[in-house]
Amino acid sequence: MNDKIINEDLLLKAIGSEINVKSEDFEFLFPTYSKSIKVELYCPRCKEKRIFKCSDVTTAGYYLSKSVNEALIVHNNELLIYDFSCEYNHSFKVSFETLGKGNLVKFGQYPSSMYFSKEINDNIIKELDESEKEYYLLSIKSKENNLNIASVVYLRRVFESLIEKAKNKSKTDFTGMKTKDIIKQLVKENLLNEMLKSTGYNVLYSLLSDGVHNLSEEECNEQFKLLKSAIEIILEDEIYKKQLEKRKIRIGSLLSNKNSEKEKN
Ligand SMILES: [Zn+2]
Repeated sequence: MNDKIINEDLLLKAIGSEINVKSEDFEFLFPTYSKSIKVELYCPRCKEKRIFKCSDVTTAGYYLSKSVNEALIVHNNELLIYDFSCEYNHSFKVSFETLGKGNLVKFGQYPSSMYFSKEINDNIIKELDESEKEYYLLSIKSKENNLNIASVVYLRRVFESLIEKAKNKSKTDFTGMKTKDIIKQLVKENLLNEMLKSTGYNVLYSLLSDGVHNLSEEECNEQFKLLKSAIEIILEDEIYKKQLEKRKIRIGSLLSNKNSEKEKN
């Protein structure tokens, strides 16, 4: 596979990342009718690694006003746009602008590179509101970029939001209460999943706080997986509860229909 310039690493990089392409490698930026650009990448919709192809000139847009060499070496503001798709037609676009001297800057990608991570749990995504979803994805993105403290900070934001939502459902006055006691009360009122028990939540909360205030990059790196799994377990259990509730309602109504049929007869 020819992934000399356009490769997985580049496609997972943040917007604003610069790359330098040597003049002898310019040809690898352009697919031709006989040679497509192929990259192996995790597909967020297939849920596994797929070969993404930008097949030929018809699926790439080049807005080069000069010859390739001239555009890439001398000129700024020339555009290169790629339209990739996996074999199941799940596509994404990525775009670069020339900066002269063979330098390019990545200025766009849709969907964002955040979604191309196998660490994302799709069931969890559905359960989160917009800001929680953003923090969850940023947490994974930070972890993959080795920003370990940041990854824990974003996880803590998700956790705090879950606590806040549970508090809003409660009638208790939480003024002046410590987080530890708030959690205890919420578990007691069945507003936070009892699965981890209040001790579990408090350990989780203090690990997340420690990450923010005391832990080193290396320590956050070690804790990340456990913290992420703990938050996912809370949400997965919520999903299970909702599904069970729906089934109860459905079965209940089926049984009551049967009952009225029986009475009619
Ligand atoms: Zn796919």
